[in-house]
Amino acid sequence: MRRALALLATLALAACQAPLAVAPEAQAAPPRTQAAPAPANCVFCKIVAGTAPSRKVYEDPYVLAFWDIRPRAKVHLLVIPKQHVASLKELDELPVETRAALLSACVRVARDQGILDEGFRVISNAGKDASQSVFHLHFHVVGGEKLREDAITKDPLGR
Ligand code: ZN
Repeated sequence: MRRALALLATLALAACQAPLAVAPEAQAAPPRTQAAPAPANCVFCKIVAGTAPSRKVYEDPYVLAFWDIRPRAKVHLLVIPKQHVASLKELDELPVETRAALLSACVRVARDQGILDEGFRVISNAGKDASQSVFHLHFHVVGGEKLREDAITKDPLGR
């Protein structure tokens, strides 16, 4: 009898400690998706892997920064996640640590290049209307000179 009472007390205590029902909005949250595998011909993945050259300026566990191969300003760097996603449209496929590291790295490389105080611009082109040319998410960090207000950098045609 004593053992039965003890068991009942244990069950009652367990019932009181049962987790509360999950709020409907939490249940409706979409599951995190895994990033799609990188295409074998992605040049930025090759740079991350070290099988394509780059003028690297910064690296941490999440991101890599290097000079644009065709700089359109005195300073023109690219900041990319080491994990492949095609563009800013897929940002939520990256771990939150990587998302934070991307913007922090943009500021860090601007500081390292000495363009933080005079001003710099951070741009990410997503999709064809934005003229995205490499489909691995990247942020352009440009500065080191006066930039046009209506263009990513100086117009190469001199207009
Ligand atoms: Zn890639």
